[in-house]
Amino acid sequence: MDASDDPRRAQGRLVVLLVESQAWLRRLPFHRWRQVLILSAGRHAVQAWKAEGIDARIVAADTFEQGLTTAIRTIQPSLVLTARAAEYAVGLVQQRLRQRGDCPVEIVPDTRFLVERFNPIPRPVAGKRYVMEPFYRAMRKAFGLLIESDGQPTGGAWNYDSHNRKRLPPQIKPPHPRRFEPDRLTREVMREVAEGQHGQGVGRVDGFDLAVTPQQAQDAFQIFLDERLPNFGPFEDAMSQRHDTLFHSVLSAQMNLGLLDPLEMARAAEQRYREGRAPLSSVEGFIRQIIGWREYILWQYRFQMPDLRQVNYWGGTGALPRWLWDGDAPMNCLRQVTRRVIDRGFSHHIERLMLVCNFCLLAGIDPGVVADWFLTFYVDSHDWVVLPNVLGMGLNADGGVTATKPYISSANYINTMSDYCAGCRFNPKARTGTDACPFNTLYWNFLIEHEAALRANPRLGPAVLGLKRLSIEERESIRAEAARFLADLPRYGSVEPGPDG
Ligand code: SF4
Repeated sequence: MDASDDPRRAQGRLVVLLVESQAWLRRLPFHRWRQVLILSAGRHAVQAWKAEGIDARIVAADTFEQGLTTAIRTIQPSLVLTARAAEYAVGLVQQRLRQRGDCPVEIVPDTRFLVERFNPIPRPVAGKRYVMEPFYRAMRKAFGLLIESDGQPTGGAWNYDSHNRKRLPPQIKPPHPRRFEPDRLTREVMREVAEGQHGQGVGRVDGFDLAVTPQQAQDAFQIFLDERLPNFGPFEDAMSQRHDTLFHSVLSAQMNLGLLDPLEMARAAEQRYREGRAPLSSVEGFIRQIIGWREYILWQYRFQMPDLRQVNYWGGTGALPRWLWDGDAPMNCLRQVTRRVIDRGFSHHIERLMLVCNFCLLAGIDPGVVADWFLTFYVDSHDWVVLPNVLGMGLNADGGVTATKPYISSANYINTMSDYCAGCRFNPKARTGTDACPFNTLYWNFLIEHEAALRANPRLGPAVLGLKRLSIEERESIRAEAARFLADLPRYGSVEPGPDG
């Protein structure tokens, strides 16, 4: 063997390893776009490091642990540096590697998250409830975002949410996000995924057009700043049959893979406001999503794991509706959204929260299978983001640890914020009868069923007050129709996740 081939020569210089764990890739039948995105982004990163003269290698392995253990034995490094894993299960792998003592292992901060640099609640008390708003304000101050020289928030308020609840008017046509033609490397990954080399999947690889490199992600972000940020705020909660992404950045998947830096994004958005190119309500709303919600969600995940996986405060036990898998929902709103998710692995956050999660909570679906559905179908899904967002915020299954109230609504909210109801066979104004919107029947059924628990929640007490206006007959009729709807709901068998790793 030539000396240059001796792997021990790696000692004293940098070797970058990227482990492709088959167990991790096959844990669920992930959307094929998600598979392509993760594999292609990783391989492009390795290619770029190599082009810089760095010894970067892809390690194909059964599990992360097996891949790293083999690499450590082969390379015999003097030190392993690994970024603190966002995912709980991968964190356990890092701990085991360190404890085994094959070589020193140093766990360094993960630069994808600002809480690694500043943690507003470094020593949380078990059982205590923490809310997002003070967390967000502390992050704004710590990173000097939209903060004036006197320490006060820019514009005099911390939050402009009340400006951001507009429905999309027919004359406004949002520009589409930037799309990218797959290059040779991505096409190779698409072929592997289409052949099932990395496990089963939902959706099709065809049409994959997502950013897979930092440069592409940056290009897509600049276009968002130019074309969509000014309108992001007002229409942040709007939903439309005419447009799938409205004014959202659609870059969460790239952020979660580390192709974009959250602080740079927040600063770039603030710059647009300072230059008079975007209104404060849009910029503050965007910054709140990036340094508020996203960071708070990771913080909650770390606070609540490993118990978060098992939470089920409202006692849901039902299987998923079949139409979440085939897109054939009889309700127009859910049909439109699930078809988009099946096509592109994406729908924006209010559709996730107020359509899919709202329905699943009202219909008593088992929270664990809902979380697995989100993990399976969305291109930006990871345990750290799905579990607190879906189990905590969307389904309130943690009993209010992540969010102080369940986000439930009748058709009234959906009809106000979207144009879905006009094309639906159900009537958004009716709560009983053959054409009654299922959101209405299930919403009132939920209030009746959980009246005592809801009354105890100061943020939901007023909703339950509406029950007083229902006669005994109306209550009985709602209960009977909801039971009939749920009994007739076509169901899908649950997905069995594979072992972690
Ligand atoms: Fe959805 Fe009900 Fe509106 Fe139909 S009527 S689109 S089911 S909210």
